[in-house]
Amino acid sequence: MPFIWKVSIIRKKYSTHKVTNEYGNFVTGSSAALPAGRQVSPSVAQFTPLKAGHTCTLVILFGKYMKHFNIKFSNSSTDFYLAYGISHLKKITDPKSTVLITDENVFNAHSKRFKGWNTIVIKPGEEFKVQSTVDAVIEQLIAMEADRKTTIVGVGGGVVTDITGYVASVYMRGLKFGFIPTSILSLVDASIGGKNGIDVGDYKNMVGIIRQPSFILHDMFFLNSLPQVEWENGFAEIIKHACIKDPAMFVELEKNSLKHYQSRQKAICELVQRNVKIKAGIVKRDEFEKGERRLLNFGHTLGHALETQYELLHGQAVSIGMTYACHISEQLSGFKQTDRVVGLLEKFNLPAYASFNKQKVFDVLKMDKKRERAEMNYVLLEKIGKGVVKSIPLKQLEKIISDL
Ligand code: NAD
Repeated sequence: MPFIWKVSIIRKKYSTHKVTNEYGNFVTGSSAALPAGRQVSPSVAQFTPLKAGHTCTLVILFGKYMKHFNIKFSNSSTDFYLAYGISHLKKITDPKSTVLITDENVFNAHSKRFKGWNTIVIKPGEEFKVQSTVDAVIEQLIAMEADRKTTIVGVGGGVVTDITGYVASVYMRGLKFGFIPTSILSLVDASIGGKNGIDVGDYKNMVGIIRQPSFILHDMFFLNSLPQVEWENGFAEIIKHACIKDPAMFVELEKNSLKHYQSRQKAICELVQRNVKIKAGIVKRDEFEKGERRLLNFGHTLGHALETQYELLHGQAVSIGMTYACHISEQLSGFKQTDRVVGLLEKFNLPAYASFNKQKVFDVLKMDKKRERAEMNYVLLEKIGKGVVKSIPLKQLEKIISDL
């Protein structure tokens, strides 16, 4: 009998209204022109204390794992600085013409690391990945007199990197931008590939762009304050990569615990870098998602629909989506290893099964960007390490999901 997660319906619906300063949507000092290089003071926002910080004990000696490489995309390129540390940022971009965007949790836990940098702090969490936050950030950039020579750097999880990439692409028709991802999920996935967007009502990432960051800089020290549940959340995307592309990594994950990666810098650096290469490689070969890049949506079609309806983190929703995709694969692509995928998800404390309102979730799912008229491009597995995309008629998909 599988373990069924209890999921509760989201009570606070996503706001599409403009959020004002009073809501503390961003933290601001007095409005001043950019070159001051000033540290903003958290005068407006209510800080949310970290509930479960310091869950890992990484010794910070990342020097030997430092790697720099450049990947060329169709009309731009991204410099990757893996395990370099935030101190390297001033060698990449001038603090006087740079604005960092972060969220309250990251800023609160690492305020010293923002010293000397113009910083905008947004509210944390998916519910703030909406247009009103974009508006608030843009107003703040205007107040800071940010211009076309300004570089914007997102320092945070996937919400911060998505918002940053999106704002940087629309503000003054596009500024240079880079990322310092601080969650496992953003290190291995969200910061890479240039897809940056926001949610609209019930629909995830409904509005957005594909535009590559100029650089991605890793500072593994940030992980020391990442709450336990966010470590687990991030491993959903690592397991996704293993399922669609890397059977050897799947076996490695089966052998090791989360604690193993939380306590050994070699293990976490190698795992993060292996995943960066998987994602960046796929994006390089298929930047605009005409083929192979679609595989990265494994677990996401149902996952996104669940994420906007229930109190689930992105990785948790994707995890349930992956289990369902495995069962659909059993019926449509002869997949026979669902038990191993479920076993691995549960090993990393991720939900595999949940009871949810299938009709309601399907109504959201059918609006997914991967729909083409009456068919949905669904990512399935043939075997562990081999993802495939199949076009499934919506009627058939609805029946399969409702029967599962
Ligand atoms: P997130 O940004 O909400 O971060 C999760 C939580 O961890 C937040 O509360 C954040 O404040 C906190 N946090 C992050 N780093 C921390 C640190 N070092 N110390 C303490 N707290 C920290 O979400 P996420 O899980 O990182 O990313 C999920 C988002 O990424 C979703 O919106 C998803 O749609 C998006 N995403 C985008 C892509 C893409 O290609 N653009 C890919 C995958 C996911």
